[in-house]
Amino acid sequence: MKNGKIITHKQTNAASISVQDELYRIGLWHIESRLCNVEIFWCRLPQIKMYDALGFFMLGTTKLDKFFGYESGHIYIPAFVLSHVFSQKRGSLRDIIRHEYGHAFAYHYPELIIYSEKFEAVFGGNYYSDVPSEMEHEAYISLYAKTMPMEDFAETFMVFVRRNGIIPEKISNTKLKNKWVFIAKQIKKVS
Ligand SMILES: [Zn+2]
Repeated sequence: MKNGKIITHKQTNAASISVQDELYRIGLWHIESRLCNVEIFWCRLPQIKMYDALGFFMLGTTKLDKFFGYESGHIYIPAFVLSHVFSQKRGSLRDIIRHEYGHAFAYHYPELIIYSEKFEAVFGGNYYSDVPSEMEHEAYISLYAKTMPMEDFAETFMVFVRRNGIIPEKISNTKLKNKWVFIAKQIKKVS
């Protein structure tokens, strides 16, 4: 996505439908899937505390958040962001939505991700830890994945959805492969 580009409501809807179709293909979009209750809202303004985010997932809401109409458990796509420090390199609108669905998957299936002991072993820390995990560069699917375990999970989930679960051939790092396999196994439990 180009710097300073405005995202429209229409683009958000089109990209959402396309990603939901991908979720269907990997078994995450069905009548009992908790992800079907996740709404994707297009908003005119970025959120103050996440002014840099091209998209964000609401984990918890303060009184002020509620006043502005934000609800926990849903995805928000702002029309523009105030700053493009590194977020502009994060790819397409669909990738942003795939990434946010990763956070949504963890939030709505905490027993599979957030409270999973295996998660810590695979991603090098608790889901909510803000300390970056310490692994070799090749163990991360993107630069952004290095920031903290939850972002590592969401970034890997994003590529998993985009690739329909098929691991890219160029991935040879065992730790990264383990992250991929972990996601595949957790998805299988709800599909
Ligand atoms: Zn994220």
